[in-house]
Amino acid sequence: MSAAPQQAYRFGLIGYPLGHSLSPLLHQAALKAQGLEGEYHLFPIPTDAHSAVHLQALLQRLRNEELHGLNITIPYKQAVIPFLDNLSPAASAIGAVNTIRWSNGRLIGENTDAPGLAADLAHLVQTPAVALVLGAGGAARAAVYALASAGWQVSVVSRRPEQARQLAQDLQTAIKGKASIYFALLSPEVLGDLAPGVSLILNATPVGMAPAVDASPWPEQVPLPPQAAVYDMVYNPAETRLLRAARAAGMRVRGGIGMLIEQAALAFEAWTGRPASRSAMRAALAEHGQALPSGTAQ
Ligand code: NAP
Repeated sequence: MSAAPQQAYRFGLIGYPLGHSLSPLLHQAALKAQGLEGEYHLFPIPTDAHSAVHLQALLQRLRNEELHGLNITIPYKQAVIPFLDNLSPAASAIGAVNTIRWSNGRLIGENTDAPGLAADLAHLVQTPAVALVLGAGGAARAAVYALASAGWQVSVVSRRPEQARQLAQDLQTAIKGKASIYFALLSPEVLGDLAPGVSLILNATPVGMAPAVDASPWPEQVPLPPQAAVYDMVYNPAETRLLRAARAAGMRVRGGIGMLIEQAALAFEAWTGRPASRSAMRAALAEHGQALPSGTAQ
């Protein structure tokens, strides 16, 4: 954790594009709830020949303690790693950083997506069993790490099977045999075969996200398995087409807003050493007009 600054905290988010980010809202709410002064800035860095220079300039501001914490999002979660001094075990295993802090003269990269998901998923399912993860990008890597570390058997399906194979290979080593990770093609045939044996389906693709809200990662012709619960990491809209279909099939469902709050809360706590008020963050989102699921931890 960094020492408290003399005047006000300055946090920020690096990524591109950042137009609709909810992070400023969440962190302002957490600051206010703790009676702390501070700001949360958006630092959009276009992906061009100068992006590495801009990235390093912002990291230098952390080293100078002009900034007190940075979040990282697409497309820099992996690209930032070579510029850091240390990675947390989770960030190292997942191969992606979403939170950077300055501690004892070192820039530390963390991944709060994995513990953020684990905390929110506990509202949906409590006992590890067999999970099916759709997608094999950055969010899927965090999800598989969280699930496999908690003892879930995980199958990862993606439209490019080599991406899922790489994920399974990297994370199988990192979780040191705690669980098995299988991979396969995201296709109706494979989903039809796997579905009867799973107790959790987790969407880690962006399919269903606004504005393409009529899309679903689950093929129309494959029946959803009624015994499973469904978690969708997409948080806009709060209830995706996949979740509506699963709810209609009698399944228990949860969208990604709780994870969004948790990953931000964990970053805030890493930067300030103070508790983040999840309830204040939820209230800020509700005021902003974001529909919220029930049962999120306070
Ligand atoms: P990413 O790194 O770009 O990975 C996306 C994955 O989905 C890739 O495997 C991609 O395959 C696959 N995919 C994309 N379009 C697809 C399609 N039409 N059909 C099948 N597969 C498709 O993105 P990410 O960072 O993992 O984010 C994924 C989603 O999770 C986003 O909606 C993001 O907002 C959400 N997320 C939510 C939270 C939260 O706090 N709730 C946190 C992180 C992420 P290709 O590589 O072949 O395109």
